Amino acid sequence: MTRYFEVHQRDGAARTGSLYLNNTIPTPAVIDPSSLKPEAEGDIIYPGSQWHFGNGKAATQATLKLRERVGKNKLIIMPSCTYSSMVAGDVTCEKIDVPADEGPTGIAYSERDPETTRDLYVADGIGCHEGNPRRLLAELMKVRKNIAPDSALYAPNIALPENVAMLIYLGVDILDTTRATIAAFEDKYMTSAGFIHLDRLAELPCCCAHCSGTSAKEVKGMDKKQRARLLEKHNIATLEAEVALVRQRIRSASLREYVEGRCRHDPALVAMLRLSDVEYDFLEERTALFKPAPLLATTSESLTRPEVVRFARRVQQRYTPPEKDILLLLPCSARKPYSISMTHSRFRKALGKNLKLVQEVIITSPLGIVPRELEVTYPAAHYDTTVTGYWDAEEHRWVEECLEDFLLKHPYKHIVAHVEDEYRSICENVSKKLGLEITYTSDGNVTSPTSLHKLEDTMKELCSGLSYRGDYRRDMLKAIADYQFGAGAGEKLLPPDSKIKAPFPRYQAFLDKEQLITLIPENGTIALTIEGAKRIIETGDYVVNIDDFVPRGSILAPGVIDADERIRPNDEVFICGDKAFCVGRAAMSGPEMIHSSRGIAVDVRHVKKL
Ligand SMILES: [Zn+2]
Repeated sequence: MTRYFEVHQRDGAARTGSLYLNNTIPTPAVIDPSSLKPEAEGDIIYPGSQWHFGNGKAATQATLKLRERVGKNKLIIMPSCTYSSMVAGDVTCEKIDVPADEGPTGIAYSERDPETTRDLYVADGIGCHEGNPRRLLAELMKVRKNIAPDSALYAPNIALPENVAMLIYLGVDILDTTRATIAAFEDKYMTSAGFIHLDRLAELPCCCAHCSGTSAKEVKGMDKKQRARLLEKHNIATLEAEVALVRQRIRSASLREYVEGRCRHDPALVAMLRLSDVEYDFLEERTALFKPAPLLATTSESLTRPEVVRFARRVQQRYTPPEKDILLLLPCSARKPYSISMTHSRFRKALGKNLKLVQEVIITSPLGIVPRELEVTYPAAHYDTTVTGYWDAEEHRWVEECLEDFLLKHPYKHIVAHVEDEYRSICENVSKKLGLEITYTSDGNVTSPTSLHKLEDTMKELCSGLSYRGDYRRDMLKAIADYQFGAGAGEKLLPPDSKIKAPFPRYQAFLDKEQLITLIPENGTIALTIEGAKRIIETGDYVVNIDDFVPRGSILAPGVIDADERIRPNDEVFICGDKAFCVGRAAMSGPEMIHSSRGIAVDVRHVKKL
């Protein structure tokens, strides 16, 4: 059980937290490895390896003595046999038998002796994999997956200003200054875009306290020791500034955008980003249903980030369009939600009363396709992308795949596309591939009077004699419910006699004057009342089981007995216990609720005592 480390904010696998020791250490943090020596009186202590003590028994004795001397507010890392994880065979450490409840402890992670509930784990030897992105990623993910989510992860001897954003993005909490010191003694001047050898520096590109009082010429003239000390101070300051910025990006839920930019200085880091996206399950499990920050799609990796892939997969697996005969494909707009943009207002005006007879689907990069009913749901109304009119081959292929999948799953009598340029070429490719006929209504410019008339006339002709009894507002709420809770949830939540009120998009659904649902426009998700939750609770999805208590305000992780593994941070969840039935928002993922012993698991909104 971890009692000395707590996670505060999460952004994907990255998190901010606190190590509660003599002094509280905010994480992600950079520590000085020399402060780990017992005589340094630091808050984290490493008494030395088992080799140093001679054997496991002596090491245990020394560690117990150390605990007695330093008290219970300092974290002691257990003496290990330090060998790299690349060492094969049956090299084993003797078990150091210092109880975890005698104060905070850490230990080198070992597959051979998997312990999972220390306050801190050391990814020993991780620095060996620095030049091997595949291996480094695999090792980091392995440790992160196997230890408790509320254990801190320390990656020693690897931090550089250019790689810390990536390491923290993958779940590292503590780094150290080893590399910054070594670099200083090699005359390497660190910057967030990689190091520059002192010989090549004409000026010092830094305003830190150590650089501002001197010049490149002066530093070059210093004796070796003096020079190394100054470079070391600068290197550490640069590293710390970078980590502080990363902490801020986590708080503002925008670390992914930062990592996409930061990794460009090192091909191995770009490789790591791409390889990590292939490990979709690892990142997606930790990625919130929605974020408070806009999603900026400015690189080719934006197409594979977990939020984008998850949206496309949920459209494929959870979305069921209302039964209509005509599909209208439209281009996206810069303004979101699309329907309030100037271009989409014109399209919809041209459709007139036929609008409700038509299924609208918007083609866009990087999301692929967005059914009109999901246009307000994160990230559909929250992304911004680089617009040049040119789409690269990957974007083309990705969007085509999404459209192709939709058309294969949902057959229509007529498909109309009111699109130009790249959007048209996507439609043409898919139409050719699937042998489907698509009617094009745009004549060079989607908003020209000729094009809009053609759209109007085509729709009039196709829609004549058709009728649709559904209500767009109910369709939208149903689609969002399916998106959040799984296919079929919307049908259960919104019976045909339910009433929808309020203006777009702040919809509310009522049944017999009892409110069931509110659509939250800021993130396009729905919040349920107790009455609403009762309608879908029997599916057993998105349920958190708690002990026999009545929650007030929030539920802490230790109070959770079990949780649906599909729960993501910010998911709407249903809390079931012997004494209460509640509705709330998840503050952490389902797996994290199960395996954590600290922190808020759910923010509760409605409580019904049983
Ligand atoms: Zn400096």
